Amino acid sequence: MAEETIFSKIIRKEIPADVVYQDDLVTAFRDINPRAPSHILIIPNKLIPTVNDIEVEDEAAMGRMFTVARKLAAEEGIAEDGYRLIMNCNVHGGQEVYHIHMHLLGGRPLGPLLLG
Ligand code: AMP
Repeated sequence: MAEETIFSKIIRKEIPADVVYQDDLVTAFRDINPRAPSHILIIPNKLIPTVNDIEVEDEAAMGRMFTVARKLAAEEGIAEDGYRLIMNCNVHGGQEVYHIHMHLLGGRPLGPLLLG
């Protein structure tokens, strides 16, 4: 069994977080250390440590992450100007929290690199 991270506690509302969306498959909350005016993390409610651990049965949750990203980008008012979606994997990818998460970043020109 994979070890839980702080993100499981956020999903269960056991610790405070600025949750902007939650349904049966995914939860979205504002990053505690925002690197852009809009910086939201979208995560599956199921604990999946890395992108390497995604199974076929997780495809519904993975798809939901994208439709929620689209919805939140519209709500943040960044859809037209544009934004970036990032998922880091393992050490070389710069992953710090081992519960997969999609970064939604926008609200300013992001340049060619971010989170590097
Ligand atoms: P990564 O480097 O892709 O694993 O990103 C982890 C992200 O989680 C970082 O951007 C952190 O700022 C963010 N983070 C860590 N703990 C929390 C927390 N309790 N609430 C919100 N965001 C967090």
